[in-house]
Order: sequence, then C-alpha cells, then structure tokens
Amino acid sequence: MEREGKTINTTLPELPSRSVLYNISPIGTGTADAESLTSYLTRLINAHNLNAGVFFRKIIYPYLGKETFPRDGLVPKKSSSFNNFHQGAWELVSALKELTTVSTLEGHTLLDFSTFLSNYEVSSSKYWCPHCYQETKDRKLPIFDKLLWVLDIVEICHVHNCKLICSCLSCNTEQYHLSRNGTIGYCYKCGSWLGYTKNDKTIEVSKEYLQWQQWIIENIIDLLLLNNYERDRIKKTWVNYEDNVNKFFNKIFDEVFEKYSIYKTKFFNLVRIPNRLYYNWDKGKQRIGLISLLKISYVTGIKLKKFLLMEIELDICLRQLPEFIYDNNLRYKSHKKYDIDELRKEIIEIIYDKDNPPPSLAKVARSFGYKNSRTLKTKLPNECNIIIKNYKNYMSENKKEKKKAISEAVTHLLENGVYPSQKSVERKLGKTSYFWNHSNRVLLNEICKEKGVVRKKGPHTKIEIK
Ligand SMILES: [Zn+2]
Ligand SMILES: [Zn+2]
Repeated sequence: MEREGKTINTTLPELPSRSVLYNISPIGTGTADAESLTSYLTRLINAHNLNAGVFFRKIIYPYLGKETFPRDGLVPKKSSSFNNFHQGAWELVSALKELTTVSTLEGHTLLDFSTFLSNYEVSSSKYWCPHCYQETKDRKLPIFDKLLWVLDIVEICHVHNCKLICSCLSCNTEQYHLSRNGTIGYCYKCGSWLGYTKNDKTIEVSKEYLQWQQWIIENIIDLLLLNNYERDRIKKTWVNYEDNVNKFFNKIFDEVFEKYSIYKTKFFNLVRIPNRLYYNWDKGKQRIGLISLLKISYVTGIKLKKFLLMEIELDICLRQLPEFIYDNNLRYKSHKKYDIDELRKEIIEIIYDKDNPPPSLAKVARSFGYKNSRTLKTKLPNECNIIIKNYKNYMSENKKEKKKAISEAVTHLLENGVYPSQKSVERKLGKTSYFWNHSNRVLLNEICKEKGVVRKKGPHTKIEIK
C-alpha cells in the first residue's frame, strides 16, 4: 500500500524509525515450531490490552482503507483464513509488517505456498497440543500455537505423540484461531486453562497411526524449514500448476511402468486415490490436496519437498501404504460432539448470520464434522432446507454480479486495445488467483464468446498425456 511521504524536519537528527504497534518478535521464525499468524496476533493484541474486534475495526481496516468489514470487526469462525494464503492473510501480513516493523511474518502463514496448496488444508477450528501448552506454561515461556497445527492433515503433536484437540476440556466449546477476547492457552468462553496437568489422561493412539502421522509431519516440517530462495522458487514454479502436475505424473507413470509394469489405473489403486480425482487435477479443475500428495509420496518414496521444488529425478521404489489406510478407515480429526439442540442452535445462528455469505450445506455439514451432508439433513431437515435455499439464491445473485464485473473489465481492456487474458482481467479486477476457480474461468470464456473475442491459449492449456 502506498503511503504519503512524511515531512522531515532536517534541522533535527533523524531518529531511527519507530513502529506504530509494539514490535513483538514472532516465535520460532524459520523453524518447525514457528507460531501461526493468529497466535502472533493474539499475543500482539493482548500486549496492547485490546479486544480483537476493536483491533481490526480501529487499526487494521482503517490502515487497509477498507470500507466494508464485519460489524464486530472479526468473525472468529473464519479466522483460520489468516493463517492460510488468501487475500485476508496477505492483507493482514502487509498491515502488521508495516505497523510492527517485523518483516518475517509471511513465514507464519502459508502465503509462500499460495501457488501450490489446495483451498482446504486449514481447519476452521483451532487445534492444539495440551502437553505443549502445559510445558510452555511450566517453563514460564509465552504460550503459542504452532503453524504446523493449522494444517488439517496434522492430527498429532510429534513432540508428545498425543492427539491434538479442538475444544475446551471444561465446557467443550470449540476454539477458534482468533477470538474477540482470547488469550492463548485459555478457553475464550469459560476462561479455563487448555493445557494438561500431569494427571490428565491423554487420548490413546495406535502405533501404526502414530508412525503414519510422524511421517506426514516430517514432510510438512521440511516445507516449514525451506529458505527464502527455495520459497521463491516454489512460488514461481507453481504458477504453471497444470504443466507441473502433467510433468510430474508422466514421469511417475513412465518409471512405474518401466520398473514394475504397472499402469496408471493400478497405480492410483495402490495410492488409494480415485481416478476421478486425478482427472480433475489433470484438467486443472482442482489442486491436489496434501493428503493425496502425501500418499503418493509415501508409496513412491519421493519427498514432498522434492515435488514442490520439482526436483523430480526419480528413483521410485514402491511400497504399500500402512494397512489401516487400506481398510478405508482413515482417521479424521475428532470433532466436537454436538447434541441435537446445540446443533439446531448453531445452524439457526448460521441462517441468521448477516455478516457472511450463506454457506452450502456441504460446508456446514463439514464444519460440524459430518463427512456427508445427508446425515445432517436427516437430523434437521427444515433447517437444512433453508440453508440450501439461501445458498442457491446467493449463488445465482453472485454469478450475476461476477459476470457483470468480469464483463466490465473485459470491455474496458478491449477498449484500451488490451487482450483480456486471465492475468489482465485479474489485474483489472484487483484480484489474484481469481481464475483458479473453474466457474470463474467458464464465465470469462462465456463473456469473451459473447463479445466475439477468440481466446488465446495460455499457460493453463492442457497438455495431452500420451
Ligand atoms: Zn505437544
Ligand atoms: Zn471452556
């Protein structure tokens, strides 16, 4: 963001620049224990004795020049996005960098992996290790949340070999990455301590599951430890997402066939990934989720980091996934358990939420830990029908608005003699990665067709796999 230059009185010696907010150092920068951005932010807000809502309304949003924002300044349920790689994280990092003069905050989000990661890697609830909290407290160090824990596939603490948890041990309230009056380590609702004392019982996990998780975490830590040069390389390399995916899989298919006479279909059988998913990756409809990548990585022996850096001089040595994955019973993080009244109350709250766009039923179901939205619909049919209706209306309105905005951008570009490529339309709209979304791409193509513009082939053109 451009700021106006300050007038400096040249008769006085220039003072070293002062930060607007305390310049608290983030914990664990560049290490496996790097704290999450929301953890840093909570500590920063606490240091100023503020409420997170006020902090956003009075400091962050005015700084960013935002005119519209949530009424209370913050939607705790959505605060996971600050640790992710979307617009919100980017804006917050740039504001905090300037206000605190701490320059390393990107490393406390997933921003460096924005061209690579899929949209669904960060869980909306906050997960933490109660033993880590307790130990840090006993050592009288500042309590913090690790960036590692924000990833949905990370289910255990690799230091204590215990399950991460997401709700208060006393009142069972689900905790968010950021809450209005939160202090890390304490329930935002009842104020109870969220760590384990020595006598508390840890949830037992099987040895096999533990090993699988340890292996996942090892691969994720590799990413957290990447230096700036490597991070830069990843950002640039993965702009050509589909090309990379094609290159990578072609290499795997060739080698697996040569060495083991295994065809594509059999290979995906082996890694327990439906062919349909591969089809979506190949067509650029969907990015590969970390869990799929890690399964492929485990079976082929190619480390996740190598894949990201596209250092794919392969020497595949196939091995089977751990048994428990084959029995289709892959463990998911345990969600908070709701009774029916509590569930109804939460869903009605979603229906009347005017600060956020109405979510799809699938998304609502997922947020309550149901893998299938039908389960939720059998429990609360009326409420679910309202959710479905609202979402449908919203989507059709949204499509109209989007179409209008894209159409205006295209017209403007054409009038100025600029070809409406995805990049130039994105620039005009002031949005990044806008055309990663398949439906947005379809809209653009439709509009171009209507205006008689012939689409040029861009970097996202599919390459045939022989
Ligand atoms: Zn721990
Ligand atoms: Zn509580």
